Amino acid sequence: MTEQVPPAGTPDLAPQHEPVSAARARARGKDSARGKNSARAEDSADVVVVGAGPAGSAVAYYLATAGLDVLVLEKSTFPREKVCGDGLTPRAVKALTGMGVPIAESDGWLRNKGLRIIGGGGRIELDWPDLSSYPGYGLVRTRTDFDQILARHAQKAGARLLEGVNVTAPLLDDRTGRITGVTTKDKRQFRGRLVVAADGNSSRLSVAMGLHKRDDRPLGVAVRTYYTSPRHDDDYLEAWLDLWDGSSLLPGYGWIFGMGDGTSNVGLGLLNTSKGFGEIDYRDLLRKWLAAMPAEWGFTEENRTQPVRGAALPMGFNRTPHYTRGLLLAGDAGGMVNPFNGEGIAYALESGELAARVITQALARPTAASRERVLQTYPRQLKEAYGGYYTLGRVFVELIGKPSFMQFATRHGVKRPYIMRFTMKLLGNLTETRGGDAVDRLVNAVSKMTPAA
Ligand SMILES: Cc1cc2nc3c(=O)[nH]c(=O)nc-3n(C[C@H](O)[C@H](O)[C@H](O)COP(=O)(O)OP(=O)(O)OC[C@H]3O[C@@H](n4cnc5c(N)ncnc54)[C@H](O)[C@@H]3O)c2cc1C
Repeated sequence: MTEQVPPAGTPDLAPQHEPVSAARARARGKDSARGKNSARAEDSADVVVVGAGPAGSAVAYYLATAGLDVLVLEKSTFPREKVCGDGLTPRAVKALTGMGVPIAESDGWLRNKGLRIIGGGGRIELDWPDLSSYPGYGLVRTRTDFDQILARHAQKAGARLLEGVNVTAPLLDDRTGRITGVTTKDKRQFRGRLVVAADGNSSRLSVAMGLHKRDDRPLGVAVRTYYTSPRHDDDYLEAWLDLWDGSSLLPGYGWIFGMGDGTSNVGLGLLNTSKGFGEIDYRDLLRKWLAAMPAEWGFTEENRTQPVRGAALPMGFNRTPHYTRGLLLAGDAGGMVNPFNGEGIAYALESGELAARVITQALARPTAASRERVLQTYPRQLKEAYGGYYTLGRVFVELIGKPSFMQFATRHGVKRPYIMRFTMKLLGNLTETRGGDAVDRLVNAVSKMTPAA
């Protein structure tokens, strides 16, 4: 088959500066002979990744490992805070293990055995499922540490990271409208054969490329802070389903995650399917919820060690398409948070890996048209991986947006271990990828049968 003439609008992804192998050597510091072109090479790469959160670092790690020259631009400087619950499920642990991130407890990672769910007058402790596909434990680590560890891990693999670089706009090819790089607040330009938007929920870069949030997808809002508390040491992540707005039970949950360092990460998240979403005072809700906690846990103003901070959780593919005109979206930028449980780190890592694998294959193709064909598989692969499950998630968030359903589900579910074991696998997306028990097969079959949209 010959493929000489790319279709209109197909990118010229030919290296813009030097062969990959030379770039790789340079990136790893093996090329000491820097010539006149070195200034130019510093601001160009095979792939420019915007954002060094979990998604950006995962993309960068896998691209660098595959031998590509990858430049990561991060607006903040590490260590930096990120508003988060700091909880990692076995799904995230698997992704970290796959990247070779050291996660020993001696390195400061706190392990947990499962989830404690409190609500509807019931309380149940559920161990993470015992599966061949996922490890039987989760982790907790502050994002201040976590994101820095991942970014350094990507650097060690050969990725170049520039911190304190705020990307403001894409550089576009006049003829094709394709992204060829980015410009920054301090008026610098960085060029790449491909660009990855891993710049989180607001994803300024995606917006500048015309990719806006979708209103037909769920969105969460969550707030969190830290308290010095005896609850800091806990083998279980704790979730409270009783969040009330007057007489209405709200769709969401509060959490208490012991950090193992004398503090607990305490917060709550709600979905936009509740009636009063947008009018709720989250800080006040947090205050009221915590006021009902036992005094000895110490969730008081005097023990609060951080401000109460909040952010949005973009769920169920709330920004699409995930590939367009040379730009791939990973993590929150592509709205990858799981609508069932608000978990986003695992999906940021997984989508980062997937994006990197697609890019690696694409850039190895000899013609523009064949490269483009490979890049177009990225959204398809994402849909295959999560599409049906996220569609189910949308049904779920609509249902629990009805206070009567939420009340019925918590009152009758939490007391029944078999229902909760099913719920944990479904909500955590933790099933055997092949085979497994009846619950695994049911969840997988329903996810597969549900159309990805
Ligand atoms: C309150 C709260 C609690 C949460 N709790 C959990 C939890 O317990 N477990 C879980 O799995 N998920 C949780 N999440 C979701 C999770 O935080 C996100 O899904 C995850 O951080 C997504 O990773 P990311 O790399 O896509 O984006 P981010 O982590 O947002 O990283 C984006 C990066 O891009 C950088 N950036 C942004 N704009 C630019 C720019 N213009 N130029 C250069 N760099 C830029 C940012 O500085 C940042 O470093 C929570 C979210 C919230 C709001």
